[in-house]
Amino acid sequence: MNISGIIKSSLIDYPGLISCVLFVPGCNYSCFYCHNRSLIDGSHILLTPQYVTDFLQKRVGLLDGVVISGGEPTLQSNLIPFLQLLRGLGYQIKLDTNGSHPEVVKELLKLELCDYFAVDYKSPAEDYPKICGHGAEARQVVETIRMLSEGDIPFEVRTTVIPLLGRKDLMAMTKEIPVVPRYVLNRYRVPDKYLPQDEDRIRMKPYSLEEIKSMAGSVIDYQPNITT
Ligand code: SF4
Repeated sequence: MNISGIIKSSLIDYPGLISCVLFVPGCNYSCFYCHNRSLIDGSHILLTPQYVTDFLQKRVGLLDGVVISGGEPTLQSNLIPFLQLLRGLGYQIKLDTNGSHPEVVKELLKLELCDYFAVDYKSPAEDYPKICGHGAEARQVVETIRMLSEGDIPFEVRTTVIPLLGRKDLMAMTKEIPVVPRYVLNRYRVPDKYLPQDEDRIRMKPYSLEEIKSMAGSVIDYQPNITT
């Protein structure tokens, strides 16, 4: 399992728990507003497995949970043994995913290796390649969300409300997936690092929190558990 970064303690990344966050490198998407571009462009470092294991062992009893984020964790070939290691240490486990690998999520559900999932739904299905890069498809993401909806592990769906998304887009998105137990709208922030060709869309004016709340209100019939 490759780990490129750690937030050693967080009160906001795992609902209700004190957690650390582990960032894996590599992603099959290239969202133009990615906040972890160094994890996906090959300029990342790798922490040694010994360092990561020592850290996790020392924090037993101090942290409740571990969030696996990235990058895209479902691409990691050693994900399952690593989650088994975390289980052995007694941690609650949350997995952040772009949802593009439902077959991996299915396996994790079968093995009961995660206690919470956060799945990004990034744009209306037809706009996925435009927002997330060539080859990105919403079909697998919708399948992941549908599978989680039919199971009993807590999860949330998240959308960063980038300035390119309008009220109509959000309405389409909230109808494209089943009703979910928690749907979080996040504010867009300009990333530190981005591709030069994305300058114009990166610099578009972000929505205010009030505007996002108003957008949330207009889709509440489709996603009653929507929050900002
Ligand atoms: S899915 Fe996440 S990590 Fe991958 S490019 Fe998009 S924002 Fe970045």
